[in-house]
Parts: sequence; structure tokens; C-alpha cells
Amino acid sequence: MSDVMVDVHGVHKSFGLLEVLRGVDLKVRAGGVTVILGPSGSGKSTLLRTINHLEKVNRGWISIDGELIGYRRSGNKLHELKEKDVLKQRTGIGFVFQNFNLFPHLTVLENLIEAPVSALRRPRKAAEEAARRLLDRVGLADKADAYPRQLSGGQQQRVAIARALALEPKVLLFDEPTSALDPELVGEVLDVIKDLASTGTTMIVVTHEIGFAREVADTVVFMDGGVVVEQGPPAAVLDNPRHERTRAFLSKVL
Ligand code: ADP
Ligand code: MG
Repeated sequence: MSDVMVDVHGVHKSFGLLEVLRGVDLKVRAGGVTVILGPSGSGKSTLLRTINHLEKVNRGWISIDGELIGYRRSGNKLHELKEKDVLKQRTGIGFVFQNFNLFPHLTVLENLIEAPVSALRRPRKAAEEAARRLLDRVGLADKADAYPRQLSGGQQQRVAIARALALEPKVLLFDEPTSALDPELVGEVLDVIKDLASTGTTMIVVTHEIGFAREVADTVVFMDGGVVVEQGPPAAVLDNPRHERTRAFLSKVL
């Protein structure tokens, strides 16, 4: 594949005796949108967390834009990076959580400029201008001075997306970004993600929104039991799944 942005290679991850990822391989091209589907407990969140090194892997490796994540290679050995270097790498990997995770004591604008100023040493004024542009992009220009608790769940999640974008990440990871929302608020968040997809942001989205996967993903990955069972274009995986496990899962969520 040309232009691979995210490369997950033979990743294994255990918690104690429980092997949660049992050899995952995944490539996402630059500008690509990959949707990951799979039953609860199949390892989707763990996979996302290994991609930004919130979890260490036991075997295998991950690279983003050709750079090894969490480790450096010397000869044929991998050495874990220092925490400071992990944090620096992580600024290039945006993460949007199910429960928004905004800073409750900061305004919307402050939520957006905190990391660019403290982690990237951006001048405050430039960070604020960029933050206002991002808020405009997610349709929340008028909420800059609000606190998270004053916003709906959908608005909070749009702020969380803008906050992730404020670090100009190479890739954005979404872990069930609409699962905590009331049904009528799901659409506004998916629309923002769709808009990002159309502007070439590289994304990996864990979601149960099959309609979104069909419309926005170029690749759909079905995970079960810590492995990728099948992957391909949405039309193939969603309409003509080759594996019984994929068919069984889809029959429950469609
Ligand atoms: P999914 O996101 O697909 O629902 P997860 O990656 O959250 O799946 O979890 C996969 C399995 O790993 C589950 O059995 C879960 O209980 C277990 N697990 C996840 N995180 C931890 C952890 N920090 N310690 C122990 N077990 C964990
Ligand atoms: Mg999960």
C-alpha cells in the first residue's frame, strides 16, 4: 500500500493471562477512513489505546507516518521511549473518547488552547485564533466562553473533536464517539466526522453506526476475539461478509 499512515504489525496484548489482542495487522493509508466493528470485548478499545501507546504491546509494533510508536529501534531491539517522548508522540495522535473527557473547569476555548500552549509551546494568541477557527468548523463559534456542563452531549463531543484537531494530529482515533449520546444528537457528531473525512483527515473510528461506516469508510474492519476476522471496502464486508462471525454480528446490529 502506498502512503501508509498507520501501520499495525502483529500486535499482541495481554492483561495478565487474558490475551486481548492476538496478532492484529492493520494498515491505514494517509487520508483514509477505517471503521472498526466488532462485539463488546473483542479488543477494539485496546487496539486504539495501543496505537497511541496508552497501552504497551507485548509483541509486534505500530508506526505512524513511518515513526515507531512508543519505542525506538536500535539494531534489532526495541527500547521503550521516555515518558516525555511518548507524550510528544501522542500530540500527533488525536483521541476522541466515548465520554468526551473535556476539562470541566475550563471554558470551551480554554479546553482547545490548553494542549497547544502547554505541549506544543504555541503562543497563546495564535492558539486562540486557531481554536476559534476550529469551533467555527464544528458549528460552535458562539460557545467559546461556555463551560462543558452548559452544553449538550453532542455539543461537548464536537468540542472534544475540535480539541483533538487543535494539535494538528496526523491521525484521529475515535472510540465509540456517539455511544453516550441521546439518539437525536448522534447525527450532528457524525456530520462533523464526515466533514473531516471529506477533507482528508486520516481516521480510525470504532463505532456501531453501520450507516456511517457504509457512507464514510473506505475500509471496514471486523474484529472478534482479538483478531481481525475480515476487512475490506464497506460493500464487501457489510453486504457480502465472507465469515460466519461477521454475518452473525451484522445480523444483530443491522
Ligand atoms: P471492546 O472495546 O471491543 O469492547 P476492550 O478492548 O475494551 O474491548 O476489551 C477487551 C477485553 O480486555 C475485555 O475482556 C476487557 O475486559 C479486557 N480489558 C480491557 N482493558 C483491561 C485492563 N486494563 N485490565 C484488564 N482487562 C482489560
Ligand atoms: Mg470499547
